[in-house]
Parts: sequence; C-alpha cells; structure tokens
Amino acid sequence: MRTHVVAGNWKMNKTAAETRALIADLRAALDGAGGAAEAVVCPPFTNLQTAAEALKGSRIALGAQNMHWKPEGAYTGEISAAMLQNLGVTHVILGHSERRQYFAETDATVNEKLKAALAAGLVPIVCVGETLAEREALRTGAVVAGQVKAGLAGVAAAAFEKIIVAYEPVWAIGTGKVASPEQAQEVHAIIRATLAELAGCPCAAAKVRVQYGGSMNAGNAATLLAQPDIDGGLIGGAALKAADFAAIVKAAG
Ligand code: PEP
Repeated sequence: MRTHVVAGNWKMNKTAAETRALIADLRAALDGAGGAAEAVVCPPFTNLQTAAEALKGSRIALGAQNMHWKPEGAYTGEISAAMLQNLGVTHVILGHSERRQYFAETDATVNEKLKAALAAGLVPIVCVGETLAEREALRTGAVVAGQVKAGLAGVAAAAFEKIIVAYEPVWAIGTGKVASPEQAQEVHAIIRATLAELAGCPCAAAKVRVQYGGSMNAGNAATLLAQPDIDGGLIGGAALKAADFAAIVKAAG
C-alpha cells in the first residue's frame, strides 16, 4: 500500500513571522495526532530557514516550490538542490502550472530538475495537468500522459518509488472548481498506466504516489482520497489555514 502524502504549496505567501505562527498551529494540530499520512509544507525560499527551525522534531516535512537543475554557477535568482538540502528541505515541487504559465517552465526543464533533485536525494513532486481548453478538446489523457513521459524521460524505473506526481488540472487550481472524484481517478489511472509503460512494468508504477491538486479542501478531501489511485493532495489555498490543512492530512489517514 502507498502511504498518502499531503503537501501544502504556500506559493508567494507568508512572512517569516507568519511562517512561524502557521507552523506552530500546524504542529499543535498534527504532531501527536497519530495518523499515517505524510505532511509536507512548502513555504517560499526566503522562509525555508525559519520553517526548518520551527519544524525541528515535527512529523511535518519541509519542501521547496522550485529549484534549478545546475549545482551552482551564474544563474541569477536561482537556487540549487544542494542549497535546499543544506537547509533541511526534503521535498521540492517541480513544474507547477503557475511556473509553466508565467515562468516558461517546460517539460524539458522539469526533466532536468527532476534528475537533479533525485541525484541530490530530494523527493520531487512533479506537477502535470490539462487546461480547460485541452479538457474540452478531449485531450486530457494525451496531454497528461505526454507531460509524464517527457518529465520522467531517462529516469530509471528503480528511482520511480522516490517520485511523487501531482495531477493538477489547471482549471481547478485556485478556482474553487474541483475535479469530481471520478474525473480525478480517471486521470490518475492514466498517469499510473503511463508510468507502467515508462518503467516497462506495473510494479515500479504501483509505488509512485500520485497526488490530486486543485481546490482540494477539508470538505472534499475525503471523497477524492478514497479513490484507488489518489495517494494524497497538493494543496494551495487551504494550506494557508492550519485547521484546513490539518483536516486534509487527517482525512488522508
Ligand atoms: C496548487 O496551486 O497547487 C493548488 C492546488 O492550489 P489550490 O488548492 O488553491 O487550488
């Protein structure tokens, strides 16, 4: 069985003081609450050190929202995998649709970042998902399978179990329009079949956690998480409120 994993993408929100306060509230709700689901928070780069200190001794892991694939060098404004690891970061979100839309992130750069993250021992959370126009054109399966294939190209099947894929329909992110459990399950099954094709066997694909993301909240999490191929959530808006995020983690197991 795959352990559910719920990650909070804080995006460009929260100061250092607000980070300390939110983490204190999350720890009060989750540390010692039991439950098998893994929880990860992903604050902005500037708050990673503050978050790492605030999370010492917690069950909640620390993630980043992006990284560069090069180990160091003249890449103004960028952050390497080693820099993240040095701060106690264990997870990193890659290829979020906002990065694809506003910062020219492509499947090729996602693939470079994925390989660098794995080489550094970080757990990559690789985001894929179709736009509304692509869904309406009945291209969801082809788009998502293409993103998975290109994003994971050249990665050995043995490394698959370290990878988390997040299915995030772009039309559901931050809109309040959540995919139905059936819609989400259908695409998650396509993702798992694509992973099996890439790996050359279903066994490696069965170990990959596939999160759903897109307006998941405390009210709709349980029915989404009950689907057989939904192994957790990538949470945006609801991750900024401790009670909501904690409720989703608890719904995950
Ligand atoms: C996200 O940005 O990854 C996300 C899922 O956002 P929201 O939960 O706000 O839709």
